[in-house]
Amino acid sequence: MTNDLKRLAMDGTATERMPLLFVGHGNPLNAIEDNPFSRAWTETGAALPVPKAILSVSAHWLTRGTRVLSAERPQTIHDFGGFPPEMYRQQYPAPGAPAMAREAQELAVKHHVSLDDDWGFDHGTWSVLMRMFPKADVPVFQLSIDYSRPMEYHFELGEELRRLRERGVLVIGSGNIVHNLSAVTWQENRPYDWALEFDAAVTRWLSEGDHRSIVGFQRLGRTAAMSHPTYDHFLPLLTILGMVQPDEVPEFFNASFDMSSVSMRSVLFRRQ
Ligand code: ZN
Repeated sequence: MTNDLKRLAMDGTATERMPLLFVGHGNPLNAIEDNPFSRAWTETGAALPVPKAILSVSAHWLTRGTRVLSAERPQTIHDFGGFPPEMYRQQYPAPGAPAMAREAQELAVKHHVSLDDDWGFDHGTWSVLMRMFPKADVPVFQLSIDYSRPMEYHFELGEELRRLRERGVLVIGSGNIVHNLSAVTWQENRPYDWALEFDAAVTRWLSEGDHRSIVGFQRLGRTAAMSHPTYDHFLPLLTILGMVQPDEVPEFFNASFDMSSVSMRSVLFRRQ
């Protein structure tokens, strides 16, 4: 293939439906540490078609009412405490995507979404993107999570925004399939029974395409309550699932645990 043809193929890819991702981000240090998780992020990013823009649905932007980031030059937010100074120096200087943010707002007819140019890139977004798109040359915007809404809301919002994928937008949910910070261990990384159980249930439902069961995850009772004492890190997955198309199957990566109670399992959806 000549370079011209390659470029044409690339341009074509950007306007076809983009793949869809849910990434387990875990420890913020994954942003700067070279480890199997961060290496898999780098490899995954390098294998993806170049998007026109990236929409991140991050566990770390919780709001009343749903918002979409419309800043032209979003700041890098260091939304954590007690980390080494190097972490506070990290910058992810990607441009914003205000036009795409307005498009997202227009697509959400049933669920009101307002524009927000105050927020920036929180670490749920930049810790992953620093590895996946290290050049920071693709415009990025974020979608917030209205924590007061029922589980179905987050799924249905994804359904409404699904068409962004056909506009060349790579949508990434950033959270964790199991996330219990009060149960983390530092010495050994042996997952709890409830953590393994919940991770296995969600994996089975993902493989079967049974997204309704994932939205109803609280029916698992104690297993679900232990895996998510709060729901912030699970809700991005629900929005991502609302964007999956019937001809797509999940491909798992980073399918292991960190600190005993954080599942790093990540999922790429694309047409086979
Ligand atoms: Zn987090």
